[in-house]
Amino acid sequence: MATIFSKIIAGEIPCYKIAETEDFFAFLDINPLAKGHTLCVPKKEIDYIYDLDDNTLSGLHLFAKKVALALEKCIECKRVGVLVIGTEVPHAHVHLIPFQQEVQMAITSPRGKVSQEEMIEISTKVQAVFAEMN
Ligand code: AMP
Repeated sequence: MATIFSKIIAGEIPCYKIAETEDFFAFLDINPLAKGHTLCVPKKEIDYIYDLDDNTLSGLHLFAKKVALALEKCIECKRVGVLVIGTEVPHAHVHLIPFQQEVQMAITSPRGKVSQEEMIEISTKVQAVFAEMN
């Protein structure tokens, strides 16, 4: 059965899209640890990140780097932190978290509330910056 992330990539479930390439997709986490909390996902559906073939794994990290640089340009933060957990959704993904305080990097921290309007604003801004990057 397709994972919820595959359904998002296929457009069957809505998301706040951040970026897309031929092989990768990024969208805002619906339950963010910080404003701009983004998930970067390979379109190939594989559960465990270290089961990805080397090309997909390195491509995912390079894609995440570009997304992180775009996030930094749009969201005030100390820096963009990176997390890999993967126990909730069995589809490899990298969390990018533009944090202001280190506690926001703890996956067990309370999730903040970001309004729908702000999620739309963030997704629109970051998509535009990402599109301008080489
Ligand atoms: P984990 O698998 O533990 O790395 O966490 C999965 C992440 O996916 C969590 O931070 C969830 O908030 C997020 N998530 C689950 N469903 C959705 C969805 N439909 N749209 C955006 N983010 C989601």
